[in-house]
Amino acid sequence: MFKNKQMIPSNKKKDMAKPIPETVINPTTQTVYRRGQYLGKGGFARCYELIDKSKSVFAGKAVAKSALLKPSNKEKMAQEISIHKALSHKHIVQLFSYFEDNDYIYLILELCENRSLMELQKRRNYVTEPEARYFMYQIVYAVQYLHERLIIHRDLKLGNIFINGNMQLKVGDFGLATQLTHRDERKDTLCGTPNYIAPEMLQRKKHSFEVDIWACGCILYTFICGRPPFETSSLQETYSRIKHCAFEFPSVVGYHASELITQLLHPDPSKRPRAMDILNFKFFVSGFTPKDLPKSCLTNTPKID
Ligand code: ADP
Repeated sequence: MFKNKQMIPSNKKKDMAKPIPETVINPTTQTVYRRGQYLGKGGFARCYELIDKSKSVFAGKAVAKSALLKPSNKEKMAQEISIHKALSHKHIVQLFSYFEDNDYIYLILELCENRSLMELQKRRNYVTEPEARYFMYQIVYAVQYLHERLIIHRDLKLGNIFINGNMQLKVGDFGLATQLTHRDERKDTLCGTPNYIAPEMLQRKKHSFEVDIWACGCILYTFICGRPPFETSSLQETYSRIKHCAFEFPSVVGYHASELITQLLHPDPSKRPRAMDILNFKFFVSGFTPKDLPKSCLTNTPKID
């Protein structure tokens, strides 16, 4: 049901066996990249460091063309590139260029050396409120930028938010994103299943920007509570809880945090705050936010004064 499972093509093993060449060339610019360290893989893509002649290091995302034989997958890839290439924001992974060879489509992306928030959360379990504010500010800035441009990400989750060498966040993976033609347009279809799926999507109602706001609520809850708000051992039960907006706060959660999360996870999408309103909540304005965070935060609780 989830994206990665659903989108893995049946001939995946064969696709994955084909090695990514040691040297990759952008045929338009003639830029030559040397393949460096393996970074990770997703449903479709394998990522390696790609290093150019001036020793600049990028994240090269390679998607096997054989995985794109299905027209809907091909369309999705084209959609991802067309949305992503137009974006330029401090908290969005930059897509510098893209090209193809016989076997692969390559995306040359801004490298995020410290993996994603998913790995951070796995190691840390939960983060302090000042850290949660530090991270949420950056995520909300990226979401504001997208929504201003009528783009809905539709799969905001810890694994799609990358951390660069300076502990700055970068939202990535626009594989489920869509761009509206006007602000009031609403979408009724979506291929794939977002991780933090909003109730209106589960109920197959029309959806819009508010699904990203819902995901922000799930992310903030997970930061502070150490687990997602609707997590259970059964997918059916999780979906039922989402539909009924049934979640509880552990007693450690502060009043302002729970107030904001409750608004972000409002069952009625029209009652959720807009991206531009989120940072005005008391959670942000009345609490301390660090200007930067040390790398040690990836594994240990920082001492924040
Ligand atoms: P998919 O679209 O197939 O889900 P992802 O975009 O999730 O693929 O990329 C697969 C993996 O590659 C990620 O989980 C991560 O480990 C790594 N990765 C992706 N983008 C970057 C990046 N910009 N910097 C560093 N690693 C990255």
